[in-house]
Amino acid sequence: MSKEAAARLLCAAGLPAIARRQRQGQLAILMYHGVEPTALTPPCWHVLGAAAFRRQLEYVRRVYRVLPLREALERLDAGTLPDRAATLTFDDGTRNLATQAAPILRSLGLPAAIFLATGPMGTSETLWPDRLWLAFARTERTAVDLTALGLGPHPLTSAAQRGDAFATAVDRLKALPDEQRIDRTEWLIDILGQQADTDPGPFKMLSWPQAHALLADGQVTLHPHTVTHPILARCPDEKVQREIADSCEALERETGSAPMIFAYPNGRVQDFDERAKHALRRRGVRWALSTVEDFADRESDPLALPRIGIGSDLSFARFRLLASGALS
Ligand SMILES: [Zn+2]
Repeated sequence: MSKEAAARLLCAAGLPAIARRQRQGQLAILMYHGVEPTALTPPCWHVLGAAAFRRQLEYVRRVYRVLPLREALERLDAGTLPDRAATLTFDDGTRNLATQAAPILRSLGLPAAIFLATGPMGTSETLWPDRLWLAFARTERTAVDLTALGLGPHPLTSAAQRGDAFATAVDRLKALPDEQRIDRTEWLIDILGQQADTDPGPFKMLSWPQAHALLADGQVTLHPHTVTHPILARCPDEKVQREIADSCEALERETGSAPMIFAYPNGRVQDFDERAKHALRRRGVRWALSTVEDFADRESDPLALPRIGIGSDLSFARFRLLASGALS
């Protein structure tokens, strides 16, 4: 039986509802990134098509009590979460959150928290992993030799091959020391061609006026997610401090209050460390979100809260299982 057929069978048997009941007192912090009219080609895990996104949120609204992030975290700490508590987060701050995600959130009356990488806001620049995706999507090359990254040659004739090569390269780059990562990213974009930098397409970032317009709606809150989206654990001390301090300052300047909640770029256990937590504490940040996949409970480290990452490769049946805690 295929994974998809099994997932459908488990949903039909009522597993999501059973799994949710077993998670009383726990919080599902769902993590999204961008939303486009349709999913991207080549495939890009963190950008969802609008129809799939709407279907997921309609489901979440029906089966969960969706709370604003800050309230959810306060009630998690206080032990006063309602049953079936969930909250919605969006990382990075691409413009399509205003054009695609916000209208759907508004129509469903759902609150959401957006974590902004503040550096490229309002420019035609975008974050480095997304720049790399653009380079792989738009290159005229039919193959690329990634031996310099320890990965060997990769064909680029089909969209699937381009998606695979991108995912493999970006994973490898995330493991490198920060300066080397910057260097190798530039090298790779250079050999793929400069098409990545002509137009950011689906990765155009919000400007501050657009972010303010979202705030004015009252359904969205804004939070820091560093300036340039480096992998903090791979950065020198000074850069860890600066990325956190500068993004917190930008949020304070623009929203009028010091940020209390942060999200780590990439966010796996190996992507942030005590230096980052220390810098966050110094800024008065109370909660920080990782991408470690789990439900949050009162035992969770407030500066390393787990989330449930939603990717474009997830079918609706598998989404229901994942968001209900039946897959973890
Ligand atoms: Zn991010």
